Amino acid sequence: MKIIMLGAPGAGKGTQAKMIAERYKIPHISTGDIFRANIKNNTELGLEAKKYMDQGLLVPDELTVKILLDRVAKEDCADGYVLDGFPRTIPQAQVLEDALARQGEKIDYAVNVDVPDENIVRRMSGRRACLKCGATYHVEHIPPKAEGICDTCGSELVLRDDDRPETVQNRLKVYHDQTQPLIDFYTARGVLKTVDGTADMQDVFSAITEILG
Ligand code: ADP
Ligand code: AMP
Repeated sequence: MKIIMLGAPGAGKGTQAKMIAERYKIPHISTGDIFRANIKNNTELGLEAKKYMDQGLLVPDELTVKILLDRVAKEDCADGYVLDGFPRTIPQAQVLEDALARQGEKIDYAVNVDVPDENIVRRMSGRRACLKCGATYHVEHIPPKAEGICDTCGSELVLRDDDRPETVQNRLKVYHDQTQPLIDFYTARGVLKTVDGTADMQDVFSAITEILG
């Protein structure tokens, strides 16, 4: 099963994608996590991506598409995957569609996690991320067991540089300009499914599993 998660930054794509990956035993692939791991390790890719990410801008398509296509070509993706944060532009979606079509495949579901802009800034200022294992928490809604410490790997949790309110406004604008058109793109292909992302995280997950079966 090949699934795409759509939604504004902070809508809960990553939170749900991790639960989907566990339930359906498919890899969770987050381009944002791949970029953050590269930034942490000071790679050339990380240095390049950081220039854009810190301003709330998208990393250029050429760079992002290559990373994603390399990742989905790996053996663990043979039975499908859940993509979180990719595609974010129509050209990215088109390249993915063309690459899949060459193998006689296609995206099965594009799950749109719908959260209004008013809720997003609060979600993101409360988000705490583990840069080691990629786990995500929220100081009010989904707190870690011990404040500031990742439940999964024990590392320190951080407020992502791009989750500061000034950057969040830019990211929302970029979302509306460049990513929201994907809703029409996947509606036209008959695979778009929208869920109410303002609900409790378990209720959002139930709505998603009802769709995926
Ligand atoms: P995205 O991957 O779409 O950017 P995340 O999954 O990281 O979003 O979620 C953004 C923030 O909102 C995180 O702090 C997360 O813990 C919190 N969150 C996710 N889902 C919910 C929910 N259903 N209700 C409340 N908070 C949530
Ligand atoms: P995320 O973790 O999905 O919120 O992504 C964090 C940041 O990484 C985004 O604001 C972008 O700067 C960059 N990024 C992640 N995925 C993509 C993508 N598919 N295309 C372009 N930039 C991306």
